[in-house]
Amino acid sequence: MSESGQSPDFAPRQVRCPACSGNSLYSSANPYRPFCSARCKGVDLGAWASEEFKLPDEKPLDEPFGDPRLQ
Ligand SMILES: [Zn+2]
Repeated sequence: MSESGQSPDFAPRQVRCPACSGNSLYSSANPYRPFCSARCKGVDLGAWASEEFKLPDEKPLDEPFGDPRLQ
């Protein structure tokens, strides 16, 4: 047996950044993985947060039979 085998953990993996679709290094060297940068990660988190905190609009619908005076 030889020890010339390459460790898969050592080889950095290129993935596609979910935010900008650019190349991103998926390794411990990239704390923002799978994003390519802090900016992309922030953008994604911001979008997720805003989506999460965005409550559904509960404004009354314009129902034709919603006015009791018409009944
Ligand atoms: Zn990116």
